[in-house]
Amino acid sequence: MSRADAVPGRHGPARGRTGPPDEVLVECRDAAVTFGQGAHAVVAVHGASLTVRPGDRLAIVGPSGSGKSTLLHLLAGLERPTGGTVVRPAPAGPRDIGLVFQSDSLIPALDVVENTALPLILADVPEERARRAALDALALVAADDLAERLPEEISGGQAQRVAAARVLAQAPRLVLADEPTGRLDHATGSRVLDALLMAADRTGAALVVTTHDPAVAARFGTRRTMRDGRLLAAEEAS
Ligand code: ADP
Ligand code: MG
Repeated sequence: MSRADAVPGRHGPARGRTGPPDEVLVECRDAAVTFGQGAHAVVAVHGASLTVRPGDRLAIVGPSGSGKSTLLHLLAGLERPTGGTVVRPAPAGPRDIGLVFQSDSLIPALDVVENTALPLILADVPEERARRAALDALALVAADDLAERLPEEISGGQAQRVAAARVLAQAPRLVLADEPTGRLDHATGSRVLDALLMAADRTGAALVVTTHDPAVAARFGTRRTMRDGRLLAAEEAS
């Protein structure tokens, strides 16, 4: 399936930082990750090859322990490949990659709106503008009523929505979301997914999620399966 028909343009044509059509945001070439050494070595990712371009909608599907998070961290540049290469042709600026972590990633001392605005503040966006963008993003995931709370005052599912809002506020060119609906009920998960897809449509960003939920994967134009650290070819996936 081509990128153009991966997701119908329900929200109008992409605008923003789209770049040339063949632009590559990140490419893994036979990239592998082994944790530990010798008898204790765990190969989390075996030689994965994958290219992500602007506008891509990719779901990486697989059971727990199959290497999804490790692959996503490779794409994010958080993990270095122990074999093969990960290439980012365009230099990644502070707002170019946005990551929604699988586990809690909010800063305890900051309230929800401050946490959401943080990537913008770090990118020197003026505070008032950053705060407004953060509140807009929180509204998109129905979490604006949590704005003044501290992370310890919200649930795990609410924290996951705030993490999604943080990436929406940042509006990066590449959004990587690790099981973004994993702790949410169906309706809330669907709303978060709507918000991520809508924001990616609006900005022309690429959206890559990991999930073990077929209903989530079904909303993505491209699905790739991971099994025991291997990224299966598209035609191998069932
Ligand atoms: P998934 O996200 O699909 O559940 P992960 O990428 O988290 O899978 O993990 C893949 C494998 O790598 C698992 O066997 C896991 O235990 C192992 N692993 C992940 N991170 C580390 C680490 N930092 N150190 C050692 N082993 C790890
Ligand atoms: Mg994981």
